Amino acid sequence: MSDTIFAKIIRREIPADIVYEDDDVLGFRDLNPQAPVHVLFIPKQPIASLDAADAGQAELLGKLLLAAAAYAREQGLAERGYRAVINCNEDGGQTVYHLHVHLLAGRRMQWPPG
Ligand code: AMP
Repeated sequence: MSDTIFAKIIRREIPADIVYEDDDVLGFRDLNPQAPVHVLFIPKQPIASLDAADAGQAELLGKLLLAAAAYAREQGLAERGYRAVINCNEDGGQTVYHLHVHLLAGRRMQWPPG
């Protein structure tokens, strides 16, 4: 997979507002927030998209979701609720090809999404 801006954030080559980190997952604020809280959670291991993930990465995918949930709980966002989104490929609206979970919170979400 080619290098992405998120790989550069993992390597600390470009700045990011990092709010969560463990051995496998990094969380940082989205540059263009779509809600009062908008944090991106990424696996440190590069996976281009959800479509590119395989069964050998099941544990990592679980850790990614659990990291987002733990952060939301720790920040007091879980009781009111939040949205976790994965955009996949072009029609899904994916623009950065390093798998990421958008955690959006702090306002009432709409459904269906645009
Ligand atoms: P997606 O469209 O699902 O691929 O989401 C990519 C997200 O990355 C968008 O919400 C962008 O605002 C965000 N983004 C792009 N570059 C950066 C960056 N350098 N730091 C933080 N967020 C970024």
